[in-house]
Amino acid sequence: MPEGDTIHRIARSLHAALAGTRVRRFELRGRAAPRAERPRSGATVTGVEARGKHLLIAFDDGVVLHTHLGLHGSWHLYRRDDRWKRPGTQARVILEVDGGTTAVCFAPSLVETTRGAQRPRLVDDLGPDLCGDDPDLDDALARLARLDPATELGVALLDQRVAAGIGNVYKSEVCFACRVDPFTPVGALDPKLPRTLLETACRLLRANLTTGRRRTVDGGLAVYGRARRPCRRCGTPIRTRRQGEGARSTYWCPTCQPARRAPASRRSESTPTTANAATDQTKPTSPAARTSTDATNAGTPTRTPRRK
Ligand SMILES: [Zn+2]
Repeated sequence: MPEGDTIHRIARSLHAALAGTRVRRFELRGRAAPRAERPRSGATVTGVEARGKHLLIAFDDGVVLHTHLGLHGSWHLYRRDDRWKRPGTQARVILEVDGGTTAVCFAPSLVETTRGAQRPRLVDDLGPDLCGDDPDLDDALARLARLDPATELGVALLDQRVAAGIGNVYKSEVCFACRVDPFTPVGALDPKLPRTLLETACRLLRANLTTGRRRTVDGGLAVYGRARRPCRRCGTPIRTRRQGEGARSTYWCPTCQPARRAPASRRSESTPTTANAATDQTKPTSPAARTSTDATNAGTPTRTPRRK
């Protein structure tokens, strides 16, 4: 499923191609079509915006087109004589603008249009967009605090009402970067950890807003999609398990992210406590060694984009 960073990249290229142009043809297909609002022919596209994993295209007559790509959706841009790369039967939105550009949305999980003050409901329920310029992390933390404390962290990170933008890849990557077991109940997290997790998610997502190939550590991803391969930090085989109602795959290193049985004992990224060392006897690692691998692995790519 495309994550926040991908949707922001898509929004940027759609915005570059469509903003300021006039609608020549706007066609909706599928279930949303019969009663949907439509921009009038000749309306101007005022902008394309990502909100978390949702994409909004606004027109100057007050119509907003809202799509969510779900697991299999995609937006393509075509010139007049291009061959479409997916079958026309999968097209749900066809937006042709003057100049000959056509934007086609294939197989989205959601298409709706609204007009005027009416806003897409799902978008209003979203937590702060972690790909945005200055997301309100206090708001996201308050939303997180309202979840059932038994909610597993991996499930909470995917909940777009807490914070928007984290998908299945970043869920695992963020937990690894913060050295926390994704199956920890949110109520058992160290009090400072939620903010660190959200800040880390922002950094990782924003570091990938302009890149073609997603990276969270040198060499690519730290744990996602790497089941049974050695942890880049400690060499332990990466594990995977289905998690949550959606049974989404979660990846983690059982050594770097030891299971937390007792509620919140003191722990932070740079100073593992003796309590942790005691529960994590399989792989004794000195604090100094952990700190130095941090700098070469998770630390480097996450810190650079902040300055941009
Ligand atoms: Zn490890």
